[in-house]
Amino acid sequence: MSAFDNGVASLLPIIPRFIVGRVARQYIAGETIEDGIERIRTNYDTFGDDATLDILGEFVRNPSQAREAVQHYERAILLLAQGHTQGGRKVSEITTVSLKATGICINPSKELTPALEQIVSYAEQFGVGVTLDMENSPYTSLTLAAAQEMWLRGHRNFGACVQAMLDRTENDVAELFAPDAEYPIARKDIRVRIVKGIYRESADIASRDREEIRKRYRQRVRQLLDAGVYVEIATHDLPLIYDALNVVRERGIPASRYEFQSLLGVNNVHKAEPEIVEMGAKRRVYIPVGKDGYGYSVRRLRENPEIAGHVVKSLLFGNMLNSKRVPLSERRPLRA
Ligand SMILES: Cc1cc2nc3c(=O)[nH]c(=O)nc-3n(C[C@H](O)[C@H](O)[C@H](O)COP(=O)(O)OP(=O)(O)OC[C@H]3O[C@@H](n4cnc5c(N)ncnc54)[C@H](O)[C@@H]3O)c2cc1C
Repeated sequence: MSAFDNGVASLLPIIPRFIVGRVARQYIAGETIEDGIERIRTNYDTFGDDATLDILGEFVRNPSQAREAVQHYERAILLLAQGHTQGGRKVSEITTVSLKATGICINPSKELTPALEQIVSYAEQFGVGVTLDMENSPYTSLTLAAAQEMWLRGHRNFGACVQAMLDRTENDVAELFAPDAEYPIARKDIRVRIVKGIYRESADIASRDREEIRKRYRQRVRQLLDAGVYVEIATHDLPLIYDALNVVRERGIPASRYEFQSLLGVNNVHKAEPEIVEMGAKRRVYIPVGKDGYGYSVRRLRENPEIAGHVVKSLLFGNMLNSKRVPLSERRPLRA
């Protein structure tokens, strides 16, 4: 983490709210579920991106907030099933929903599995996938336990997320997908998103070294592909994207076994788009919506000052850092 990143993050309390709000707009599709669906449709129609919709909210504080959060997700799933792209595809075919344990229940250690299964079962009726984000380390074990429970109960529309930065992740993946870990569903129907990890964790349990995290990320991509699960490669780190593309190319792994994911507003990733498209792989954009864009942005920036650095660099040098995206209508194959 550079002095620049730390400096920007430490200025947060004195940065006027409207400026943070402007920054948040780059990363959030709007306040309502409808705003999110509109963005999903436009992104798909223009660029062919799939999406995952996140309704912002962490740390619900009382039972009525928890119930409301579950209802919001059910409403979103219904609207996804009712919406259509320009070409007539159902929006639910190109969209999953992403949610956080602390966003749907007050006491995840007791309530996560039932709350999650309510949403997963509801989504299953409409063919919508659900992905459980991974939060900070106090929640890792219970989040993975709930994920395993969904697979054991045979839910094909469910995916989990693991963080490369954590020391434990290699073992977690090995245990979850050990040869004797039997699930009533095929491994290819089990989705796992691999991320670096956004939270600042103690050096006792996680690496903070950029190159070490990258090394672990490459290793986990290989481990997950070896496990036979569907791998969601969620990073904007171009060398890691190219590394994953090389692995799948060299091993002849079909594009039906993996996809690439990015966060709305982080556009440097589009430089790798021609190669991803050439492999026939999906690109999925994580699209947050919600009223608490300010709070969400401030929490993310406090948790990880490195993001503050990225944000300011992208605001200052956006046009230089980002490659112009080619709309679907103008796309040509890399090799004729
Ligand atoms: C689809 C998706 C889902 C995720 N889900 C989770 C989750 O459930 N749990 C979790 O802990 N983390 C999650 N993350 C976040 C992840 O852990 C990383 O913190 C985040 O992706 C940044 O790491 P990076 O791999 O992109 O590499 P970095 O080295 O951080 O970024 C590579 C490059 O991307 C650009 N960049 C990255 N972030 C930004 C930004 N915010 N603004 C502008 N430019 C930027 C910069 O040019 C940077 O040099 C998710 C990420 C994605 C893409």
